[in-house]
Amino acid sequence: MKEFELALRIGKELTEAQLKEAAAKALGVRPEKVGRVEVVRRSIDARQDILYRYRVQAYREGEAFEPYRVAPYQDVHGAEPVIVVGAGPAGLFAALKLLQLGRRPIVLERGKDVERRKVDMARLSVEGVLHPDSNYCYGEGGAGAFSDGKLFTRSSKRGDIREVLHQLVAFGAHPDILIDAHPHIGTDRLPEVVKNIRRCIEEHGGEYHFDSRVTDIVRKGPDRAFEVHCGTSVYRANRVILATGHSARDIYELFQARGWALEAKGFAMGVRVEHPQWLLNQIRYHGKYQPFMPTAEYAFVQQVDGRGVFSFCMCPGGILVPSSTEPDTVVLNGMSNAARNSKWANAGVVVQIEPGDQPAGYSGPFALMDFQRDVERAMYRYAREHGARHPFTAPGQRMKDFCRGLVSKDLPKTSYHPGVVSAPLHELLPEHVASRLRKVFPQVERSMRGYYTNDALLLGVESRTSSPVRLPRNPQTLEHLDVPGLYPCGEGAGYAGGIVSSALDGIQCAQAAAL
Ligand SMILES: Cc1cc2nc3c(=O)[nH]c(=O)nc-3n(C[C@H](O)[C@H](O)[C@H](O)COP(=O)(O)OP(=O)(O)OC[C@H]3O[C@@H](n4cnc5c(N)ncnc54)[C@H](O)[C@@H]3O)c2cc1C
Repeated sequence: MKEFELALRIGKELTEAQLKEAAAKALGVRPEKVGRVEVVRRSIDARQDILYRYRVQAYREGEAFEPYRVAPYQDVHGAEPVIVVGAGPAGLFAALKLLQLGRRPIVLERGKDVERRKVDMARLSVEGVLHPDSNYCYGEGGAGAFSDGKLFTRSSKRGDIREVLHQLVAFGAHPDILIDAHPHIGTDRLPEVVKNIRRCIEEHGGEYHFDSRVTDIVRKGPDRAFEVHCGTSVYRANRVILATGHSARDIYELFQARGWALEAKGFAMGVRVEHPQWLLNQIRYHGKYQPFMPTAEYAFVQQVDGRGVFSFCMCPGGILVPSSTEPDTVVLNGMSNAARNSKWANAGVVVQIEPGDQPAGYSGPFALMDFQRDVERAMYRYAREHGARHPFTAPGQRMKDFCRGLVSKDLPKTSYHPGVVSAPLHELLPEHVASRLRKVFPQVERSMRGYYTNDALLLGVESRTSSPVRLPRNPQTLEHLDVPGLYPCGEGAGYAGGIVSSALDGIQCAQAAAL
């Protein structure tokens, strides 16, 4: 097998004949002696001419080719149960791995199935009614179900990303995610994928229980037997995978009440930045954007005054959504359809926060969680005190006004349905966050001319970037330090961030729990 690169001007189709010819050249054989040819990676290069760059693997005729195969799911009716709390990416991929290993997953999810969940999210956006267990963070598919569905992770240490991507394709995601350098599924396609995962788990003998918020976890003696309570219902198993996400503050409170270890963990906080998408297309493609090109995206990491300041979870052609889980807080996030075709581009731009960065008065394992919640509440209060009618109206400010410390006289149009009130975000945000953000936007302008503009709207607050609490676990067994048989998993445990890394952590925890 020989691997080689091929570049093609964007908009031109890569034909079989071209591939074969390039493969023959790379292998040094005649085209008829070329066997299988596989595109394994596709990325965009917009530095000069706008090109698709392909990484291709070519095999000689007769040379063995081993396609990646997902391990088969076993029939687990009657097999030993493992309780999986949370049906987000970590919980779902843990459950799928349990099926492969012959264990019976019992999935307990506080929210609703993905179809009923949609109804609650529409009510949230339109009427401002927040369902405490069914919203942008809670419900089948977890926080990842109504998102952009970006599928990249910076870490390959956590496991084989192909295991996640190939399963997602088998459950309905577009096969392009297997080769795209920046794959994404899209919020219009994710619910179907999530439903197909459920069908698979149930058909093989696993169980799902919706509207089942875990209220207590009781250890029955030292032999790793657990009773997991959801109100009056009780489920029993010798292993529990706890994949409740970064917003399940009640789970952290349960740990504290039980005296089980937990610790403050760094996270990041800032704003959502919304630009007109046409502007970003012009910037990223140097004025050569054509409608057939992929919607432009961006990412940056800068150091400002000793802390990382970075873009987070960018949604090209996306919309902003209210992702609060508590009624008196304003928190934003973004999502996009597969086609990424809205008029706006949004991204979190956030400042890294380490334990100790919080103002005086916050201490203990909940120091950063309490600080996070107070900033979210300050956003809510400001909007309510300044004429907001929708409870999840966000404080907003134009980008240059923010950097200059001026309240905006008016605001640009936004995709954020609950609405925006003009606000001094430079004062509402904690000083150490605001001061770094004020420096970073002009800094980004140096590499992205046009980015620093008053046509960009900042909205507060982007605060659920990762968990502000960690549930510490044994690095070998992945069990909680104080609770053998309990596996804190995914983003809520503080061991992952994003869909793919949470899914990979789910796989690892399931492997550990099945031993
Ligand atoms: C709007 C939005 C857009 C996003 N876009 C992207 C993106 O494009 N790409 C990306 O990589 N990441 C994105 N993220 C982040 C990503 O969704 C998370 O990193 C990921 O979902 C974490 O997976 P998880 O399984 O650990 O937790 P979660 O997805 O948070 O799932 C936890 C689940 O546990 C359930 N739960 C919580 N408490 C309990 C309880 N007590 N009892 C029972 N069930 C409980 C919740 O209802 C939830 O379903 C986005 C997040 C949001 C909110």
